[in-house]
Amino acid sequence: MTAKLISGTEVARQIREELKEETDRLKEKFNVTPGLVTILVGQNPASMSYVTAKQKTSKELGFHSVQDNQPETISEGDLLALIEKYNRDPQIHGILVQLPLPKHINETKVLYAIDPKKDVDGFHPVNVGKLMIGEADYLPCTPAGIQQLLIRSGVKTDGAEVVVVGRSNIVGKPIANILIQKQKGANATVTVCHTGTKEMAFHTRRAEILIVAAGKPNAVTADMVKEGAVVIDVGVNRIGMTPEGKAKLCGDVDFEAVKEKASLITPVPGGVGPMTITMLMLNTVKAAKLAAGIPAV
Ligand code: NAP
Repeated sequence: MTAKLISGTEVARQIREELKEETDRLKEKFNVTPGLVTILVGQNPASMSYVTAKQKTSKELGFHSVQDNQPETISEGDLLALIEKYNRDPQIHGILVQLPLPKHINETKVLYAIDPKKDVDGFHPVNVGKLMIGEADYLPCTPAGIQQLLIRSGVKTDGAEVVVVGRSNIVGKPIANILIQKQKGANATVTVCHTGTKEMAFHTRRAEILIVAAGKPNAVTADMVKEGAVVIDVGVNRIGMTPEGKAKLCGDVDFEAVKEKASLITPVPGGVGPMTITMLMLNTVKAAKLAAGIPAV
């Protein structure tokens, strides 16, 4: 069996089209323009390119978008005051602080300072807790993107054996939390593996849906995958340069071998990656609607 590809690029395009329509409707019918601020501290090249991509997408969707660049030397107090300013700004519905922050700033303190109603990254403990009890307003972007990929590819999660490799706060734990909820697009039986797991292959071989977020090339090889499994590869690993001088990327799964065993698989790049920014946009539209008391359609 050769797996069919799940194209995150295509699914992200569809969702962005829907978001553009919804943004136009909010403007016309309610005079509401979703507003997103991205705060960048310093000039880390990777962070700069992430923030630029987020700004570009939010502008394409017609958002009120603000990019706030701050020097590497900004004090923690000044950054917290800046966040407070945006917490109070009625034109801003979503606040994103690009991580990592310089060492002299306490990241946790900064993330906790964002008003949970404007926490479109879904990292504030209030939103983490709401996800845990099945009451989430905002799902964290990468796991939300994974769930959408499954739903929109027609993958049945209800009753499925799901194995997640990785337990980070931004991918592994939240995707496990999302998929165990007694909700549509979830209701799965979820096992989470990590470096403390004995015999990981014992678990991964049982998975009907295998989600890999380890940050290690070839963490999952073909012998670890069940015939016909759906494989979602979250990993982004830089493994040298292309002849054009671009970073060469690979996921955490031995793609060439695993695609001969899986039924569906996400490529890297072009799989989970394009979904993350799209889900940030979806959360911002949701935040604008919540702030204006507009029900979800
Ligand atoms: P992370 O914080 O480094 O966490 C990695 C997790 O994988 C940890 O829980 C670790 O276990 C576990 N792990 C590592 N090697 C393992 C192995 N050989 N066997 C079993 N478990 C193993 O990484 P992350 O932030 O979750 O990101 C994971 C990958 O996804 C990275 O490549 C990252 O670049 C990518 N990513 C992509 C997107 C996107 O938009 N496409 C977004 C976020 C992340 P321990 O807890 O025991 O250490």
